Amino acid sequence: NKQVILKDYVVDFPKESDMDLVETTIAQKLPEGSNEVLLKNLYLSCDPYMQMLMSKTEGPEGFRNYAPGSPLTGYGVAKVLESGHPDYKKGDLVWGFTRWEEYSLVPASLILFKVEHTDVPLSYYIGILGIPGMTAYAGFFEVGLPKKGETKKGEKVFVSAASGAVGQLVGQFAKLSGCYVVGSAGSKDKVDLLKNKLGFDDAFNYKEEPDLNAALKRYFPEGIDIYFENVGGKTLDAVLLNMRVHGRIVVCGMVSQYNLAQPEGVTNLANLIFRRIRMQGFGVADYYQLYPKFLEYIVPKIKEGKIVYVEDIVEGLEKAPQALVGLFSGRNVGKQVIVLAHE
Ligand code: NDP
Repeated sequence: NKQVILKDYVVDFPKESDMDLVETTIAQKLPEGSNEVLLKNLYLSCDPYMQMLMSKTEGPEGFRNYAPGSPLTGYGVAKVLESGHPDYKKGDLVWGFTRWEEYSLVPASLILFKVEHTDVPLSYYIGILGIPGMTAYAGFFEVGLPKKGETKKGEKVFVSAASGAVGQLVGQFAKLSGCYVVGSAGSKDKVDLLKNKLGFDDAFNYKEEPDLNAALKRYFPEGIDIYFENVGGKTLDAVLLNMRVHGRIVVCGMVSQYNLAQPEGVTNLANLIFRRIRMQGFGVADYYQLYPKFLEYIVPKIKEGKIVYVEDIVEGLEKAPQALVGLFSGRNVGKQVIVLAHE
C-alpha cells in the first residue's frame, strides 16, 4: 500500500521534498466486528487548504493538521472493497475524506456521499460535483446573492484565481445568471481559457498588471457588484477601491496568504464603510444540506454542455507531491486531480 506521508512540519510554502512516498501494508479484510470501510482510492484531490494542515499552526476549523510520518488526508473518490457499516456495501462508489494512499481503512463517517451519477467522469466528484462545485455554488448564490437586472447587463462580477477548481465555476454560474464577469489568472494560457472556453466576458493576467487598481478600473468602469475572493493580499486591496456601493465581497479563500509568516497588510478596508460593502467569509461545510439541490442544478447543465469543467489530471501517487506544490505557483490549469486507478 503506497502512501504519501508528511516528513516534517512545513514552514512557509510546501516543497515536494516535504513529502515522501513510502510502502506499507494494509489488511485486505476488515477486522471481525469492525464498522469501518475498506476503500480502494481512485481519485485524490489537491486543495489549497492542505498547505495549512502541513504546518504546525492550527488550520481551518474542522480539520486536523497532518502528523509527520503519517499519510496526508484529503478528499477523494473511492470504491468500497469491504464494509462493516450497513450504509455501504462492496462495490459502492463513494466520495469523501480519505488518505493519500492506494487503500484506506476509514470510519464510515468520513464518507460524505455515494456517487449518484456514473455517466459523468468519476473525477468530477472531487471537482465540479464535489467540494469545489459546492463551494462555488454556495459562495456565489448563497453568500454573493446575485441580483438580476440591476444594471443593463446584470451585476458586475470579478473572480480571482478564475481558472481554478472553484473560480471557473463561479464565472460560469455568474454568466448563467445574467451577470457580466471578468476573471484574473496567472498566465496567458489561463486568460485565453477564461475568454474562449469558459465564457468569461473578459480576463487579465494579474502578473502582468503593475497597477491592479488601474486594471480593475479599466475592466469595471462602473465598479464591481460582487467580488469572489480566492487569493487575498494585493488583489483584495485593489478590489476595495473598485467596489460599488452595497457590493458584496464573498471571501472564499486567500491562497496567496495562508502560509506567509507575515501576511500582507490590507490598507483599504475603510471602503467597507464608505461604500457600505458586505464582506463575508464562508465555509462550504455549512452548506452540505444543499447538495441534492446543487446536483439538480448542475447535472443537467453538464449533460447539456451548458457548463464545462477543466481538469488538470496527473497519473500516479508518485506525482501527487509535485501536483500539490504546483497549486501555489499556479502550475495547475483547472482542477488538480490525481488518478490512482480508474476503477
Ligand atoms: P485552484 O484550482 O484555484 O488552485 C490554486 C490557484 O491559486 C493556482 O492555480 C493559482 O492560479 C492561484 N494562486 C496560487 N498562489 C497565488 C498567489 N500568490 N497569488 C494569486 N493567485 C495565486 O484552487 P481551488 O479552486 O481549489 O481553491 C480556490 C480558493 O478557494 C482557495 O483560496 C481555497 O482555499 C478556497 N476554498 C475555500 C473553501 C471554503 O469552504 N471557503 C472550499 C474550497 C476552496 P493563478 O495561476 O491564476 O495564479
